[in-house]
Amino acid sequence: MVRKFNFNAGPATLPLEVLEEVQKNVVELSNTGMSVLEISHRGSEFKEIIENTRRLFVELMNIPKNYEILFLQGGASLQFAMVPMNLLRSGESADYIITGTWSKKALKEAKILGKVNIAASAEEDKFKRIPRAEEIKLSKEASYVHMTSNNTIFGTQWANFPEVGDVPLVADMSSDILSRKIDVSKFGLIYAGAQKNLGPAGVTVVIIRKDLAEKCPENIPSMLKYETHIKEESLYNTPNVFAIYTMKLVLEWMKRNGGAEKMEEINKRKAELIYSAIDKSDGFYRLVAEKDSRSFMNVTFRLKNEDLEQAFIKKAAAINLYGLKGHRSVGGVRASIYNAFPMEGAEALVEFMEKYAQEN
Ligand SMILES: *Cc1c(COP(=O)(O)O)cnc(C)c1O
Repeated sequence: MVRKFNFNAGPATLPLEVLEEVQKNVVELSNTGMSVLEISHRGSEFKEIIENTRRLFVELMNIPKNYEILFLQGGASLQFAMVPMNLLRSGESADYIITGTWSKKALKEAKILGKVNIAASAEEDKFKRIPRAEEIKLSKEASYVHMTSNNTIFGTQWANFPEVGDVPLVADMSSDILSRKIDVSKFGLIYAGAQKNLGPAGVTVVIIRKDLAEKCPENIPSMLKYETHIKEESLYNTPNVFAIYTMKLVLEWMKRNGGAEKMEEINKRKAELIYSAIDKSDGFYRLVAEKDSRSFMNVTFRLKNEDLEQAFIKKAAAINLYGLKGHRSVGGVRASIYNAFPMEGAEALVEFMEKYAQEN
């Protein structure tokens, strides 16, 4: 196999050593005589897997004791609905900070379920920047404030999280979870689909402060209630056994490689490499995001015209720099460089960018 440098936004590249370990255990899980795909989710083998996944996750994210960790299905997209169902109390409203397509989708679901207030929106600026602190207008009696920590499509990211006082801060961290050190105690709830930084698609992690879960209303269908999954330790129904198992291997890989702190250092180096190639290109490449809002997970840029962009993506793919096409709503190029994306891939992209600019 010639392994591509895979810049896909999600599902995204996974460490090769993890894939090789998965390959072995798909046939037989460590001397059990069964595949990891065949074991019971209530058996001791899987109990150990899910407990280790939870323990590693708590350790790597440094999650305080007053939080629960859930492994759910339905993606981040289901959390867009579960968050307001469980946390938006009647008579109150929820504040939403709109920084891109995913925040808008979260807002849409909340609107179906209750009152919402748009605390800030970067839409007028075509989502090229994160709102400044003074632009955020929080309402007095909000049940929670919702934000998207990294905007996968536009390539912007919060460098510092907003100050929300005593109101629970809820964050969609699907595209930057465990890519940097964060203070979990600042949040009431964090959720993330696994398929960018944590593993394969099919499992969604929710970190919820216990007191918030305890206050959730009763009249919610069981599968959609956080309390159900807390009580049953994410085994109320059959979870995605395979995705959780693979996530465990990814977390072990992260731990071996220095944890969140080291991931952050390397991620920033990868991003800086590409950003400085853009900055040095004399306008041949143009950033989509404003400088102080740019993401170190998704680097988005445009070229002078669409022909140049299309040829760029095609020529890059021909030398195994794959998945660089920007999201259709932004156009141009997007390089997604999550934790498992190697430094050599960023270097190869920069080399290609310099050559392409010279030739054109
Ligand atoms: C990818 C992504 C989603 C969607 O996740 P699903 O698991 O497909 O529902 C939501 N929010 C953000 C920030 C994302 O990057």
